[in-house]
Amino acid sequence: MSVLIKGGRVITAADDYVGDVYVEDERISLIGESLDVAANRTIDATGKYLLPGCVDPHTHLDMPFGGTVTADDFESGHVSAAFGGTTTHVDFCIQAQGQSFGEALEGWHGKANGKALIDYGFHLAVTDLKEGGTLEELARMPDEGVTSYKLFMAYKGALMVDDETLFRTMQTASETGALVMVHAENGDAIDVLVREALAAGRTEPRYHALTRPPETEGEATNRAIQLARVADANLYVVHVSCKEAIDPIAVAREKGWKVWGETCTQYFFIDYSFLERPDFEGAKWVYTPPPRAKENQEHLWAAIRNDILSVVSTDHCAFLWDGQKTLGRDDFSKIPNGGPGLENRLHMLHEFGARTGRISLNRMVELLATNPAKLFGLYPRKGTIAVGSDADIVVFDPEKRVTLSAATHHSKSDYNLYEGTEVTGAPEVVLRRGEVLVEGDELVGKPGSGQFRKRARVGEELRSSRTVVAA
Ligand SMILES: [Zn+2]
Repeated sequence: MSVLIKGGRVITAADDYVGDVYVEDERISLIGESLDVAANRTIDATGKYLLPGCVDPHTHLDMPFGGTVTADDFESGHVSAAFGGTTTHVDFCIQAQGQSFGEALEGWHGKANGKALIDYGFHLAVTDLKEGGTLEELARMPDEGVTSYKLFMAYKGALMVDDETLFRTMQTASETGALVMVHAENGDAIDVLVREALAAGRTEPRYHALTRPPETEGEATNRAIQLARVADANLYVVHVSCKEAIDPIAVAREKGWKVWGETCTQYFFIDYSFLERPDFEGAKWVYTPPPRAKENQEHLWAAIRNDILSVVSTDHCAFLWDGQKTLGRDDFSKIPNGGPGLENRLHMLHEFGARTGRISLNRMVELLATNPAKLFGLYPRKGTIAVGSDADIVVFDPEKRVTLSAATHHSKSDYNLYEGTEVTGAPEVVLRRGEVLVEGDELVGKPGSGQFRKRARVGEELRSSRTVVAA
């Protein structure tokens, strides 16, 4: 099977030129000017951008959480991702208390089997570490292609780990070459504040934010950075939401420490005031860290420009407003934390980042595809358009006008974080390993065709074993 994509404007993290891209057997085999080659299918991309398929390193599909299960499974989540131009994601495999990592991983592979449309990998979320058991098993996980360990410093009584578990995981990661990811919030202090608020009868959604002040994120971010230095581990701070957390990452990066940070689309657009919307509507934006005071948004734009933050993910963790979010109608602490967003990351960053000139198109690609592929051991198979790379390509129409809405998105969630937002620019054709998944408004790809990708360790690149002959 071969595909020739003609006359598109190829935009990678480094380049920007008009050319033809030739795809054979799932990979890009030739890039050039006016290629004269026979293909099974030709796509005219005149006037369109050719972007690498986006890589989302932070999603939660089919995950039990807060007394319920996230609304999107690997089928609806992947369809939603594909329509948004995301062709690879790395989801969190969560170890249940007392469970071995092998069992946890088997469970998550089972969730994706037969349903996957895009390619995927897993991070391992460590919740329970025991000497003579899981600690030893943890060291073997990179051999399974699982090269990142995630720890929650919040959600006391559920997913939160203590500093000993955090530190021992960092020590293990230092030996195995895995990347340590942290959800950085001080879970102990937050737990006290939540109990105090509830005792005082403060139950509305806005108390979700008021009991998780930005200082608790800043403190935990700095603690994780300092402990990672002691353990000599590579650290990646997920979903940075505020200046208090940006500052310690800026210091670390200026000093050249092995620290990276990520923010998520929603933190640029949703602020604290959304939580104050009446009739429990605020619950739609109950995710963690919470929407912050609006001034943080300019700090976040500056941080992605200055490479203090290296990735924009979605933290897609979709729930229904009606039936799931409403579990917390009388108690904000029972509102399932999370929101949808997997489908709209490229729409939003293109409209409000690239089109406004806050970031270049190259930087947009770097934040959404290239950097996550590099940091999570998928590059150069994923994250770029180059000879030998997987043919994960978004034919992006920069003039197409779209209104983001739950009425048209593909997530099962009954609301959209950005409901009614108008954007100019949207994916038109999305290919994953040379196969067309999405064409206009049509789903063409078949669930079950997405593949688990083993990921390389930090600093290693995932090279093709096949010799690629460039013409
Ligand atoms: Zn998350």
